[in-house]
Amino acid sequence: MFKSYQFTQNDEAFLAGKSVKAKISVVCPAYQEQEVVLPFYKELTKVLLDLVADFEFEIILVDDGSTDRTLSILKEIADVDERFFYISLSKNFGHQAAITAGLEKAKGDLIITLDSDLQHPPELIVQLIALWKKGNDVVLAKREEVAEGFSFRKIFRKLFFKVIGSDVRTMRSGYSDYRLLSRRALDSLLQFKESHRYLRGLVSLIGYPTAVVSFTPSERFAGNSKFGFVKLFRYAIDALFSFSKAPSNFIYALSLFFLLASICLLSGFVLALFCKLQFEYALWILMGSILLFCSSGVLFGQGILAEYISRVYEQVKNRPLYFVKDTNISS
Ligand code: UDP
Ligand code: MG
Repeated sequence: MFKSYQFTQNDEAFLAGKSVKAKISVVCPAYQEQEVVLPFYKELTKVLLDLVADFEFEIILVDDGSTDRTLSILKEIADVDERFFYISLSKNFGHQAAITAGLEKAKGDLIITLDSDLQHPPELIVQLIALWKKGNDVVLAKREEVAEGFSFRKIFRKLFFKVIGSDVRTMRSGYSDYRLLSRRALDSLLQFKESHRYLRGLVSLIGYPTAVVSFTPSERFAGNSKFGFVKLFRYAIDALFSFSKAPSNFIYALSLFFLLASICLLSGFVLALFCKLQFEYALWILMGSILLFCSSGVLFGQGILAEYISRVYEQVKNRPLYFVKDTNISS
C-alpha cells in the first residue's frame, strides 16, 4: 500500500482538469547558415506539428556569431512563430558552446539537439521520442557509415577514434550531437561547468538509461561545412585532453621504449666486449645505452608528473561525482 504520495505540479494540473502535455525543446546551432535555416525550420516544424496532439514544443536556434544573414532570418521567423526563439552569441564561440547556450535556455521536458544544415534528418525525432517514451533518458543518434571516397577528414576521424581508444560508447566513431535528453539528464549535463566542452563525452558521464537509433546523414542542404581543419583539430584536442589518458600513456610508452632500447644497447656493449670489438666502438654503444636509460627515467618522471597534473585538472574541472536516478529519501 502507498502510505503517502507527493503530488507533482503535473499531477495537480491533471487533477484540476488541465491537460498536461510534455514539452519538447529543440535546440540547434547555426553558423553562417543563411541558405539553410529557413528550409530547416520548415522541415523541423512539419515534423513537430505532427506531434502537437501529445506535445507542446519550442524551437531554439542559436546563432553562433554569424556574419551573414542568418540572424535576420531567425528574427523574421521569430516574428511570425511564437514557438520559435533565437539566441545570438556575440561572436563565433563554436558548435559546442552554441549548443550549450541553447540547452541552458531550454524549458522542455525532453530536449533534442540537432544541426541546422539538414544533415540530421528531423524525421528521426519521432523515433527519438518513441524511445524516450519507453523510459530512456538519453537517446543517441548514430550515423550509419556511408561509403565515402578518400578524404583527409575521414582519415583524421578514424585516427582520432583509434588514438582516443575509448570504451565509452558516445565517443566512438559515428555518434553525433543529434540526441534527445530528458529533463533530468539535461539538468545533470548542465552541472558540468568545464570550459573545454566536449558534449559527446560529457553525455557519456551522466549515465541514465540510454538508447541508440541509427540514421543515414543527408547531404548538406546548402553551404559548406563550418568545421575547417583547424576547428576540427581543436575540437579533437579538447576531446583528447578532457576524456582520454592517451597523452600520458604515450609518455609512459615512450619511456618503456627507451628503456628497452637501452637494454638492447647494453647487451650490444657486452657482446662487443666478448667479440673484442675495438674498445672505442663498444664505448659508444655503452654511451648510447646510458643516454637512453637516462631519457627513459626522465620521461617516466614526466609521466608521473602528468599523472599528478591530470588529477589537479580533474579537481579544477569540479565534475559532479554522481547523479541519482531514483531514491525513496525525500529531499
Ligand atoms: N556550427 C556552429 N558553430 C561553428 C561551426 C558550426 O554553430 O563554429 C553549426 C553549423 O551551423 C551546423 C552544425 O554546427 O548547424 C554542424 O556544423 P557543420 O555542418 O559545419 O559540421 P559538419 O556537419 O560538416 O561536421
Ligand atoms: Mg553538417
